[in-house]
Amino acid sequence: MRTTIRTRILSIFVGVALIQALLLGTFFLYQYNNSQSNLVNQQLRTLSKNLSTHIEIYFETILHELETASQQIERMAQKDYQRYNLLKTIKNNNPEFLALAFYDINGSIKSAVSSDPKQDTHECFINNASLFDSPYYSGTPYVTQVTLKGGAPAIAISQPVYFLDNAYIIGVISGITPYRNLQNIVDQIILPPALNVLVLDNRGLVLAKSTGNESPQASFAPNQIWDGEITIHEQRYFAASTIIEFYGQQLTIIAKVNADKSLAPSTKSFVLFVFLIVLLMLVSVLVGWETYNKIIEPLQALANRSSTILQGKDIKIPSLRVAELEDLANAMNSLNSQLQDSNLSLEKEVQRRRREEGKAILLRIEAEKANQAKSIFLANMSHEIRTPLHGMLGMLEMLGKDSLNPTQQQLLSMTTLSGRRLQTVVSSILDLSQIESGKFQLHHSPFSLSALITEVVELMRIQTENKDITIHSEQEPDIPDNLTGDSGRIRQILINLISNSIKFSKKGRISLEVRLQSTPSANKVKLLFSLTDEGRGIPDNARQSIFRAFERGEVDNDTVVEGTGLGLAISAEFIQHMNGKLWLARSDANGSKFCFTILCNLPVDSPSPKPIPLPEQPVCPKKLTGIHVFLAEDEFINQRIISAYLEEQGCTVTICENGRELLNTMKKAKADIILMDIRMPVLNGLETTEAIRKMEKDTDSAPIPIVALTAQATTEFEKKCKKAGMNDYLTKPIPFTKLVSIICELVPKRHRYSR
Ligand code: ADP
Repeated sequence: MRTTIRTRILSIFVGVALIQALLLGTFFLYQYNNSQSNLVNQQLRTLSKNLSTHIEIYFETILHELETASQQIERMAQKDYQRYNLLKTIKNNNPEFLALAFYDINGSIKSAVSSDPKQDTHECFINNASLFDSPYYSGTPYVTQVTLKGGAPAIAISQPVYFLDNAYIIGVISGITPYRNLQNIVDQIILPPALNVLVLDNRGLVLAKSTGNESPQASFAPNQIWDGEITIHEQRYFAASTIIEFYGQQLTIIAKVNADKSLAPSTKSFVLFVFLIVLLMLVSVLVGWETYNKIIEPLQALANRSSTILQGKDIKIPSLRVAELEDLANAMNSLNSQLQDSNLSLEKEVQRRRREEGKAILLRIEAEKANQAKSIFLANMSHEIRTPLHGMLGMLEMLGKDSLNPTQQQLLSMTTLSGRRLQTVVSSILDLSQIESGKFQLHHSPFSLSALITEVVELMRIQTENKDITIHSEQEPDIPDNLTGDSGRIRQILINLISNSIKFSKKGRISLEVRLQSTPSANKVKLLFSLTDEGRGIPDNARQSIFRAFERGEVDNDTVVEGTGLGLAISAEFIQHMNGKLWLARSDANGSKFCFTILCNLPVDSPSPKPIPLPEQPVCPKKLTGIHVFLAEDEFINQRIISAYLEEQGCTVTICENGRELLNTMKKAKADIILMDIRMPVLNGLETTEAIRKMEKDTDSAPIPIVALTAQATTEFEKKCKKAGMNDYLTKPIPFTKLVSIICELVPKRHRYSR
């Protein structure tokens, strides 16, 4: 169940009120109890004192009367009748006396008066000899308790009668006063409610009392001082006592009250208590209600409006009656207006940015489209240029095998040179486009540094044939020879730099040095390559620009040197991808020095790299005798060139125009390897490869090696070929030496020579 703030607050206040009331009640009761018991004790003390004073006065009065009587007897009542009259007068004047008697010196009663018609009291005078003896022999008043004939207790007081100013005693005057007179005294006292009094004699007999339900023998012990709370027979009392002594007679005056009755809160108190609780509760509920109305409700309203503001709506918070909340509302209102303003400007900003973003997206799409178109164009161009170029170079190579006269031979080699140059230009442009599109990737594999350098130097030496140039290479001995990196690209960099040195030198020495620059980690080495020539040098103003694409530095009008201006730019990019850099270390009239660094990995637990086969040095036997090749190629020229070359190497070649034809042929005949063009009509190379691999899987037959032959020299495309299930990849124009190596590697020897 969801509790509202209102009920929560009200219940809190009611709870607090109840706790307050309980605490107050307990305190009130404690205070009441305390003050009540103090009050009662005080009252009891006063009461017992008062009563005792009254009784003492009473006794003093009686004694005084007897004394007066004894003096009168001495002076004027020597005769019996005189004494009788005197006693009668005294008794009439003092109704406290029940009887009066005069004893002569012999202890005989000479005169006696009594208000008792039967003269019962007379016997008391006769039976209590001490009434005479005691005062007569001691000379002092004597008081004793006597029992009247009916059993009622009374006090007898005797006083010696002196003669001639206390010279000698001539008799004793004695008076009896009933204890009921004490009851009269008690009855005259106004008692507070619930309080009562007792007058006890020496034996604890109750002589007088304020209530009728007290037994004759008091439960309180006589002759004891009580003051405060006592428990008698499991009943709690507050009591205060006073002992009075009158000529040997001890009386105990006790004022007492039942503790339970005296301390029980009165109905008035209870009503007051309840009223107080109700009042407190009412006050609490009122305070709670006020708090809810004045604070909680406005706060709730504030919270509701805040959430509305947060939803972006523009609302104004109305005036609130509490000062702090009013301040809060004002602050929120100004915050809201600021929020609205900033929302507005934000919205405008967002709209502006959206418009700009839209434009940027359109521009980006257009740029992407253009880039895509460029890539497609480059791929197409690459294919379209490489294919005929490949055909051309192949044809020229075949032509060179025939016997030609020297002029024809020269023309042929010039044509071949031009073709190779064109091939380099196309490759460079393709590399540049890959770098610019961010699609360029290195292909790391293990290689031997020394073999690579030897290969490049040997290759370059061919270009120096007509010049007085020597090429030297030196490799620091502590460089590990087995490295991992993109050896193809390192080769390309070295070829670019050395061919520049050859191009721009008429004579002299070209030296290539390789040193170990640093070992950044346990499995990495940084190599420093330096290439020095004695060529024409590079002018100061061209030393930066030569590293930019298509920049060719200062053009020498006398000698036209071939080139595109891409070599250094592409090399610098390759080097950057290898975490190194290329720079011109020195250049003057005596020549130039180019340096570059690259980071290579040291192969971990891998076998020594295969030495890079040098041109014209195939690792397998020259003749691929007995190997049956399926060549899937739609271009007539390519069919002719590749089949002619392979047949010369001893292969049997079956040509298929497209993938479909290849699949059909495969049903009829078997081959050792397939050379697969990618762009073919009916069924392209990739689809055909996938179909072959599926067929092999279905028939559970051994996979046949498939090598792609394509003019599309992109890394992406190479990946596609591998994915389709091809074993290797060669770009057109086909490097025949490599083709032979691949065939040797993929077709097992046993197979080759068994035919
Ligand atoms: P290309 O050689 O095709 O012109 P490069 O990018 O390889 O393009 O070289 C750019 C230019 O730098 C060259 O045209 C040439 O002017 C200058 N250059 C490069 N290497 C050398 C060198 N070893 N000696 C003199 N000039 C050089």
